[in-house]
Amino acid sequence: MTAQSDKWVSADRAHSWHPFTDQELWEAEEPVVIRQGEGTWLIDTGGRRYLDANSSIWTNIHGHCHPAIVKAIQQQAATLCHSSFLGLANDKASELAEKLCGFFPDRLTRCFFSDDGSTALEVAFKMSLQWRQQNGHPERTGIIAFENAYHGDTLGAASVGGVSRFIKGYGESGLQVYRVGSLDELQTLPQVVLQTASAIVIEPIIQGVNQMRLWPPGMLAGLRSWSSRNEIHLVLDEVMTGFGRTGEMFACQKEEVIPDFLCLAKGLTGGTMPLAATLTTDEIYEGFKGPDRTFYYGHSYTGNALGCAAALASLALFDTEDTLANVERKGEFLESSLRNLPGVLGIRRVGLVLGFDIEGCGQTFCQQLRERGVLTRPILNTIVLMPPLSINEEELGFLIDAVASVLKS
Ligand SMILES: *Cc1c(COP(=O)(O)O)cnc(C)c1O
Repeated sequence: MTAQSDKWVSADRAHSWHPFTDQELWEAEEPVVIRQGEGTWLIDTGGRRYLDANSSIWTNIHGHCHPAIVKAIQQQAATLCHSSFLGLANDKASELAEKLCGFFPDRLTRCFFSDDGSTALEVAFKMSLQWRQQNGHPERTGIIAFENAYHGDTLGAASVGGVSRFIKGYGESGLQVYRVGSLDELQTLPQVVLQTASAIVIEPIIQGVNQMRLWPPGMLAGLRSWSSRNEIHLVLDEVMTGFGRTGEMFACQKEEVIPDFLCLAKGLTGGTMPLAATLTTDEIYEGFKGPDRTFYYGHSYTGNALGCAAALASLALFDTEDTLANVERKGEFLESSLRNLPGVLGIRRVGLVLGFDIEGCGQTFCQQLRERGVLTRPILNTIVLMPPLSINEEELGFLIDAVASVLKS
């Protein structure tokens, strides 16, 4: 290790506190300090290159430092970095709201910006609940959520999540949540729950943090019918699945479902800036007009111009690079290559989101992948492979070889 990277490691050890990280183990291990990104690759302070096999925790879409997004951010930074969105508009946020709603013409007509996935969900829950209070259904105060769901870490979003190891300690202090395991189980909910629920929330098609478990085909469409029939708002958490990850721009398009609230973050800016959006309908929007009906919610950086410029550049790349065209082909290649490897168990995949199980410890497996130039994080004994959509064949080959080599050792 160079003297310079020593400096960063000791500063980190002295002062940083990492998310979802056992700090005791962290302090004992030799950390990787990233300082550059280039396409599918991350480069550390010692000059070592790593394939970014989980898209920097599911955010990156077109590769790191894509020149088109870099240029958009640079131009925006030189023009306007940020101005308040409270009672003011900015050109980039206007364009982005129009563009996002344009994916669901005449249905999702309103876009509310926030900062990350958790806040996109907080916005949806607060909007749904407040809308009920002022539109004739004050008794609807509950949220129905799925077991093992993950919707973020802020207090409200965490209380709706169903991963017990993440919510112990404060899961009880949040929203009023009814938890169910499946579409079938919804049919057995007591009448009182159906009459007091405001919304139901789901990660469509696939539950990411729940070890990449896919819902049965048709489940989402069934859920849409159920929620409409029971007049319960459908909130879709597309924080992971949005922006091409599943092969469609949005996972809900796989079953031609349009929700009442659509939550977007992670890939929105192509993995460059923190920005989120909650899309909703005219009906919800109109229910906030009039005296004492304002939606009192907003962050200092809501509608951030830099983030919006990055998002517009990222969305433009889907057209100029025809990003969606090859997602399924790449995903199939990855899956079929892994199928041939002994020790790869129970592959789950949609588009370029893939999880498989191993016999041993996921953490150790990923440590060994890192030694072979591949970065990802496990979920328990599940190895997650979710590379940027721009990954090429040669890089997929490198990734598969690294997995094969760890399995052999
Ligand atoms: C990551 C994630 C979130 C939380 O997003 P943050 O940006 O980390 O707050 C919520 N839901 C899903 C499905 C996610 O994958």
